[in-house]
Amino acid sequence: MKSVSKQIFLNALVCPTLGWLLRSGEVAKQITKTELTLGERFRIEQGIEIGRRARELYPGGLLIDDTDLVSASRKTERLMNDQNVSIILEGAFLIDGFVARADILRRKGKGWHLVEVKSSVNDREEFIDDMAYTAMVVDRCGFNISSVSLLLVSKDFRLGMENEELFAQIDHTDKVLVRVEEFKPFWQQIEEITRTPVKPEPRLLFECRKCELFKECLGKDIDNHIFDIPRLSQSKFDQLAELGIVCIKAIPDGFPLTENQARVRECVQTKNPFVGDRLKSELTSISWPAYYLDFETVMTAIPLYPDIAPYTQIPTQYSIHKCSDVDLIIDNLEYLADPSKDCRRELTENLINNLGENGSIIIYSNFEKAVVNSLGRLYPDLSERLNSLVGRMIDLGAIIGRNYYHPDFHGSTSIKVTLPVLVPEMSYDNLEIADGDSAMAAFAYLALGKYEDEKVEAIKRNLLEYCKQDTLAMVKLHQRLTDYV
Ligand code: SF4
Repeated sequence: MKSVSKQIFLNALVCPTLGWLLRSGEVAKQITKTELTLGERFRIEQGIEIGRRARELYPGGLLIDDTDLVSASRKTERLMNDQNVSIILEGAFLIDGFVARADILRRKGKGWHLVEVKSSVNDREEFIDDMAYTAMVVDRCGFNISSVSLLLVSKDFRLGMENEELFAQIDHTDKVLVRVEEFKPFWQQIEEITRTPVKPEPRLLFECRKCELFKECLGKDIDNHIFDIPRLSQSKFDQLAELGIVCIKAIPDGFPLTENQARVRECVQTKNPFVGDRLKSELTSISWPAYYLDFETVMTAIPLYPDIAPYTQIPTQYSIHKCSDVDLIIDNLEYLADPSKDCRRELTENLINNLGENGSIIIYSNFEKAVVNSLGRLYPDLSERLNSLVGRMIDLGAIIGRNYYHPDFHGSTSIKVTLPVLVPEMSYDNLEIADGDSAMAAFAYLALGKYEDEKVEAIKRNLLEYCKQDTLAMVKLHQRLTDYV
């Protein structure tokens, strides 16, 4: 049995079953996924790099790098009690079955200043919980935490600046110490609940909709769960839970639902897709030739190029399928930036040329509009032409959202959900890069020179294939929708 970690404690506060599963190790068995995607790996590596750079701000800090928790905590305790030691990095604390690691601890008077490092530019409420958990465990170990701050990535950092300028520190002492007091009464309760040999009976909560284990837990064997209802509010969820209703098909007629929600219920109950009256007119408003457009972008904590703020979304590639009519492809135009430099200007000029002057530009979500608008702000001399591109955009995802619903959409109109339902013969399964996060990571690795030379061309081909698949998917979805008009 594991110790109670921050993740276990904070999850158990919301759901004792989840806390128990995490502590018992059952989670690993329930989540069948074995390998991280490229995108997940990149995110973890970014976090590690930010942590490493943060530690560089504390020269002379003693790093606790033992992987064994018991020896790491003993070493930390010894150093904390040594008046000659003023900074401890990655200190480990273990007490009564609880474990915590403190990113940075600096001796301050008779206490310690706790610093938590996050690879984010934005402060978030959940960070208070993270810091409070660590402060609580350190306090239980008998060390006084006198101040607490958060070290975030600074929006003002630019490539080439000193490491000090990569970070912005925010004092959160008051909020964290209040939260520590709120957490303390749960200390024993959570230790006991998560240690009991019998799994606590799961209880349906609004939070279950975002739980990674939902499909193996309370969502198991339930087709069209009430969480598939679009924009389900907490109060409506509470009313349904009060009535003991977990399936959409069991929602009674008189239950108050919005038009869209009622439509989803009807589809599930009748097992028939919904086709809206305006599907035909919205589809026929598309003018030809039509350009199906998809972008990929990259966002990194440490900017890849000069004069760019951390986490700026940089468009790096696009694919366009040009059609003279429904499913009549006449061209596939694509662009992939040279990863060694910022190519946004070149990408923008190519995009303007490739999209011509007339015809609809089909997109699937607001993302492409946002990217083009951001390019317009960046290049005022091109903004008029970019604005006219935005004016030609038609969102196929929104057309589906307004006019078509299939029970297998499970409340989502994401292309990764609608495509396998409407165009089952198309799949991302055989692609080397099969999701946007992994495309972002592959481009970032190219820019950082992480691939061996002989792999570079293959990675670029994989990126082009992935983006092309997205625009081809739109062409096929559009064609399939015309079957219903
Ligand atoms: S699905 Fe709900 S009850 Fe089950 S582990 Fe997750 S949060 Fe807890």
